[in-house]
Amino acid sequence: MSNKRTEISELGEFGLIDHLNSQVRIKNTSTIKGIGDDAAVIEAGDHVKVVTTDLLLEGVHFDLSYAPLTHVGFKAVAVNVSDVAAMNAIPKQITVSIALSNRFSVEAVDALYEGINAACEHYGVDLVGGDTTASRGGLIISVTAIGEAKKEQLSYRSGAKVNDILCVTGDLGAALVGLQILEREKQVYLANPDMKPDLEKYTVVTSRQLKPDARMDIIHELRDLGVVPTSMMDVSDGLASEIFHICKASQVGATIYEDKLPIDKQTFDTAVELNLDPITCVLNGGEDYELLFTIDQKDFAKLEKHPDIHFIGHITKPEEGKYLVTKSGTAVQLKAQGWKHF
Ligand code: ADP
Ligand code: MG
Repeated sequence: MSNKRTEISELGEFGLIDHLNSQVRIKNTSTIKGIGDDAAVIEAGDHVKVVTTDLLLEGVHFDLSYAPLTHVGFKAVAVNVSDVAAMNAIPKQITVSIALSNRFSVEAVDALYEGINAACEHYGVDLVGGDTTASRGGLIISVTAIGEAKKEQLSYRSGAKVNDILCVTGDLGAALVGLQILEREKQVYLANPDMKPDLEKYTVVTSRQLKPDARMDIIHELRDLGVVPTSMMDVSDGLASEIFHICKASQVGATIYEDKLPIDKQTFDTAVELNLDPITCVLNGGEDYELLFTIDQKDFAKLEKHPDIHFIGHITKPEEGKYLVTKSGTAVQLKAQGWKHF
């Protein structure tokens, strides 16, 4: 060991993961895919298992001054189910580990588990274990989800091909805008506790932040239509950042069109009210938990009429780069700002 000290911010979250991955040696043939996708893939007889885990910290990922514990519990499960969905797999089991400080009562833990159990019902998964420990400060929740698929049904980040169509579900930017509203109202309340926050107008964006829903509905519909995305991931860090991941893993380029990007009216209006550029919210807002995927052109007709799948662009050769074509027709290079954790 040298005395050299490298700041984590020099590598960034993804650089750090690449750095850790470079030191990992896979020893078991049953490990089909390790680090680097939305979930790991493990051989399991006639099918495969997918495994994914996420860690949520009070004060970093949620703020209990506005996030009800029940919603935090639901979200902790939903974000993991979203990573299972992103592999085109079906979630079956979860484990839940919690660390609690003495600030939390049994009733508080019950509220958290009310959300966890509601999510288990909603997604049809079984809570099969976990761990419980004390925390020096605040609440920490770690959820691991296990899902199943047939090997040929899986969608990796690495399967996008030139001329594939880029698709995104739902609408984007709402969770970021919702977070800004919740933070703004919190500051108003802290400055004057007699003021009642007026959140009525913002329920679409705030509920997207507080209680996102993983798009398992889309996974089941794709199955029914016989469509296997050539690549897929969920939008947790922001659309632009996720497009970079797919392009890097698939060694391709991409062009997307501003006028095709889906944004909800309340998200748009609230972004403008907050002096935020709505398109920047769509491109770089985190935590939307929609699905970004690519399909072969032959499958377009099967999805063309779907009300909640949007065709935002196409895959190009790697040397063509990553571009956003604006409403005025100018191609600007995409920048992957994403969520900066460090
Ligand atoms: P997602 O946003 O889909 O949850 P991440 O960006 O968190 O994915 O992780 C990308 C990949 O890196 C995944 O395969 C994940 O399992 C892996 N990964 C993240 N952190 C670590 C870590 N500390 N050690 C090993 N693998 C990690
Ligand atoms: Mg993911």
